[in-house]
Order: sequence, then structure tokens, then C-alpha cells
Amino acid sequence: MPGLDLIVIGAGPGGYVAAIRAAQLGMSVACIEKEPQLGGTCLRVGCIPSKALLESSERYAEARHDFARHGITLSGVKLDLAQMMKRKDEVVAANTAGIEMLFKKNKIMRFVGHGRLTGKTAEGIAVSVEKAGGAPEALSAKNLILATGSRVASLPGVALDGDRIGTSTEALRYSAVPASLVVIGAGFIGLELGSVWSRLGTKVTVLEFLDRILPGIDAEVADAMLKILKKQGMEFRLKTRVTAARFDKKAGQCVVETADGEPIIAERVLVAVGRSPNTENLGLESVGIQPDPKGRIPVGDHFETSVAGIFAIGDVIRGPMLAHKAEDEGVACVEHMATGYGHVNYDVIPGIAYTHPEVASVGKTEEDLKAAQTPYRKGVFHFRGNGRARALNQTDGFVKVLAHGETDRVLGIHIVGPRAGDLIAEAAAAMEFGASSEDIARTCHAHPTLAEALKEAALAVDGRAIHS
Ligand code: NAD
Repeated sequence: MPGLDLIVIGAGPGGYVAAIRAAQLGMSVACIEKEPQLGGTCLRVGCIPSKALLESSERYAEARHDFARHGITLSGVKLDLAQMMKRKDEVVAANTAGIEMLFKKNKIMRFVGHGRLTGKTAEGIAVSVEKAGGAPEALSAKNLILATGSRVASLPGVALDGDRIGTSTEALRYSAVPASLVVIGAGFIGLELGSVWSRLGTKVTVLEFLDRILPGIDAEVADAMLKILKKQGMEFRLKTRVTAARFDKKAGQCVVETADGEPIIAERVLVAVGRSPNTENLGLESVGIQPDPKGRIPVGDHFETSVAGIFAIGDVIRGPMLAHKAEDEGVACVEHMATGYGHVNYDVIPGIAYTHPEVASVGKTEEDLKAAQTPYRKGVFHFRGNGRARALNQTDGFVKVLAHGETDRVLGIHIVGPRAGDLIAEAAAAMEFGASSEDIARTCHAHPTLAEALKEAALAVDGRAIHS
């Protein structure tokens, strides 16, 4: 095959988006992906299936506990877990098929197999595509993007068995509702999947090493979420370091040991203590790329590695392991390749936990501002003062706007409350345009909407919220 303009290894949100944008810009592009489905962890065993189960389990919980308040009496509400899982699988299949269609539309060549760098030649960067049971295929291109994502981080003493002691992949397809589940780690995955099974009737105990949940999220927001999740029935043990977990075959149960205290017994264990970059077996040594001590690939401002023409984006480089961060990096990387311009604003990357209610955050936290001794003013507005939240019967939570103490420029917005994940888009757009809290406060927000809570929080920065 003649040399291509670009090879992308990995078809997750970083890789597939980079491939599409590169094709739009006129490049000849090949994408190598070892899984038969496109879309990476996010589409196959991450964001999309978890959101499908979060949606279904929330409806189940609502039907059981909240409809009566709306004057709707239901009886005989039953869980059909097999159907819930089938719908989740259909959502995944539709999404991955959608990417396949986009690849065809953009004439992206697709190779199924493991991509490995083999060196630099006169034709450019050389790669072999290794296929199970077949001879490897050699490809080369002017440029190459490594977008191989990440895998679940292991925990010493905890042997994953792909069943009882598993990761999010297993927790997305339990065949029956476990009576009890220990979740190790109170980050995004632990809280989202813990919520799913808790709503479906499992007794969920979350063990977290830190003295708080959701590390990196504004502490006041995380603390409010902790109280809400406890009210929903999830149990939390903070400042608890898990040292070992095993499945006791004889007793038919999992035993989880911590640095102090009695062992905890559960039917299943979900390990959610972070993710590690997939940078092994990529042939990096063949071109002289050296990963950092955390296994990440060092890159410069425009995602180029130490080797000219080889780029890396997403979970294999520094920064938060988020699908939308990887997507934006993919676009910026190929736009820079094609035009000399391409940029990601790392100060405005939203983060969302799809719990109920949702937690969403963008920009600096109050802790960040205190640590940097940045002068700031703070406006908080509680959803109980918002008419739409009352109509929804979802008044837990608040919006917090942090603005610079002298310039009023918005530095961070943090939300715990209904549809926070959608509301944060306005916050991110405002910050991208360099808005002041006054700008948000003076923007006409439709009534009655949840978004009015953001306007009120912006007004509260200046002590003039109307409904609190
Ligand atoms: P995380 O980093 O969000 O949280 C892991 C938690 O485990 C931390 O709170 C950590 O303190 C705790 N922990 C570590 N070792 C421990 C031990 N021995 N005992 C007890 N607790 C321990 O990681 P995650 O939830 O596994 O998510 C992985 C990645 O995937 C993250 O980067 C996250 O951003 C991403 N993700 C994002 C979303 C989303 O955007 N909604 C959803 C899922 C995953």
C-alpha cells in the first residue's frame, strides 16, 4: 500500500475523531483498532453503556419511590434485568455502528488488529498491523497518532478474576442483582456504577482511601454529593485503604481487607481506583520514545512526541482521562498538522459525574484558588429556590460561581443538582469567551428553567440573587 498521510492507532473518542477531522482536512487516513467495534472504551464498555444503565436504573428507582409524590400509583413494578442489559447493548451497538458509518462516509481505511510501531523509514513512519491467526500487514504514513487509551489500574493484593472481583467492564453486565457490592474507589466510575446497582437493590459499600469522594472536584460540591448519596442508601467508608480482596470459593463470597478494621464480606467487588495508559507493546522503543514513570507518553504543545511525525493524544498523555478532552486533542492535533493552528484550552475542560443528581464542574475549584492565593468572590444559589427544580421535584443541590476578586472574570463554576451535566455547557461557553459573572447575570435566561440557577448564582457573586 502506498504511504498514507496519517495512521491513527486506536479508535476511541480521541482516535476516531482525529481520523474523521483529518479526512475532512483532505488527508488519506487509516485507523488501526484491535476490537471489532469502533468507539473504544467509552462507547463499548465505558461512558455510553454506563449512561444507558444509569438512565434505566433511575427510571426504576423513580417508579418505585417517586411516582407516588406525583400522584401516580403503580403496583407490581418489577425489574427485568435481562431487558435492561439488552437495551444497553442496543445503545452501544447503535453508537458503534454510527462510527462505522462515519468512517465509510469519510473514506477512512480501517484495519482490525494490534498496531505496533516498527521504525522510521524513507516512506515515513512504519507500522505493522498484527492480526490473530493472520500474517501482519505493513503500513506507513507521513504522520502517526497514538490514541490507545487506558485500562483499569490494578490494585496490589487485589486479583481481578473477571467475575466476582471485577472492573467496570464486569459491573456493566452482572447477570443478576448482587445482594451486596463493595466498590473500591469513590471516583467517577465507583459512584456511577455504585449508583446503578444501589438503585436496583444492591447494598453498596464504597471504600475510599481519601477523606472525601470525587477527588479533583470542588470539595463543597463533593461533600454535598456525599450527603445525597448516603441519603439514597449507599454506605461510605472514607480514609479506608484496601489492602487485599479475594473470592473465597468455599464460602462463595468476596473478602475485602483494609489497612485497619474487620474484613468486609460482599457478593461482588468493583475495583475503580483509576486507569493506566496503554503504552506497552506499541513498539515505542523501535523509534526511541520513552514513556514517563506513570507510563504516559511525553508530548509538546502540539501533541508531538520526541519523534517528529509521531503524535499522542487522550489517556496516553498528561491531563484528565476524559473522552471529550481526548476528542478536542484529536481535532487540535490534526488541525495543527494541516494548518499550523490547533489548540486545546485546558482551563475549560468540564468534568461530570452522572450520579443522581449530577455533579458538574469546570475551571478552578475553591481549593485551587486558595492554594494559588487568587482573590475571588463566590456566588451560590440553591436549586430549592428554582421553580423548575421544584416542579421536577428535584431540589437537592446548588450552583457555585467563582469569579476573580478584582476583574470579576469567571474562574470556575461547580454544580451539584438536576441536569448539572447539561447546565455546565453554558458555564464552559461563558468561560471560553472570557465572561465575567456580571455577563452571565445580565444574560436573559428563559423561565422556568434550571439554567436560571446559574444566572442567580452569578447574581449572588454580587450579593443580589433574587430568589434566595
Ligand atoms: P478516579 O481517579 O476518578 O477515582 C479513583 C478513586 O480510588 C480515588 O478517589 C482514589 O483515592 C481511590 N483509591 C485509590 N486507591 C485506593 C485504595 N487502595 N483503597 C481505596 N480507595 C482507593 O478513577 P475511576 O473512578 O476509576 O475512573 C477512571 C478514569 O475514568 C478517571 O480518570 C475518570 O475521569 C474517568 N471516568 C470519567 C467518567 C465521567 O466523566 N463521568 C466516568 C467514568 C470514568
